[in-house]
Amino acid sequence: MNLVFLGPPGAGKGTQAERLVLAHNLMHISTGDLLREAIRMGTPLGREAKAAVDAGLLVPDEVVIGLVEERLACRLSNQGYILDGFPRTLDQAGRLRHVLQELSSPLDHVILFDIPAELLKMRIGKRADQSDAQGKPRRSDDNPTVLRQRIAEYVRATAALSPFYEQSHLLRRVDAAAGVDDVAAQIDGILR
Ligand code: AMP
Repeated sequence: MNLVFLGPPGAGKGTQAERLVLAHNLMHISTGDLLREAIRMGTPLGREAKAAVDAGLLVPDEVVIGLVEERLACRLSNQGYILDGFPRTLDQAGRLRHVLQELSSPLDHVILFDIPAELLKMRIGKRADQSDAQGKPRRSDDNPTVLRQRIAEYVRATAALSPFYEQSHLLRRVDAAAGVDDVAAQIDGILR
């Protein structure tokens, strides 16, 4: 099972990915998580990416493509994967197609999390409150100003990916405004 999760910040991609990863022993490849980890560790890549992540802008394609290639290469044989937050540009999607061809591990589904922009602000606010309640640090980019920028980046660069994957007959839409269990059921219906 090889999947891409496509959708704006706060659409619930990470929540659904966590569930599927456990249920199907998939590798979860979230470029956002990998970048945050690199920033936390202060690696050269993290130092290069920090300013863009903090501002809600996209990190250069070569940086994220390198991260994804590295992770895909260390899967167990035949282990499926979920790419969460990658690709985000047409260049990334083209490179991904090439890499997956070389690995003989093509995509099965690209799941688009469809959700109105008004709901995203509320969802991100909730995520920040949950982090506070659990005593975890808030994500530095989960604030209204940076969220506006992240949504703008999604519309500017990432929205072009749905026609790209529609043409390849890989795109499946879920109504991500629904509750967590409902979205899970929609995804299970697609995977069945
Ligand atoms: P996310 O956790 O997916 O919301 O990503 C957080 C931030 O990491 C984004 O706002 C970007 O700055 C950066 N980022 C994550 N994935 C990508 C990607 N595929 N391409 C470029 N930048 C990315």
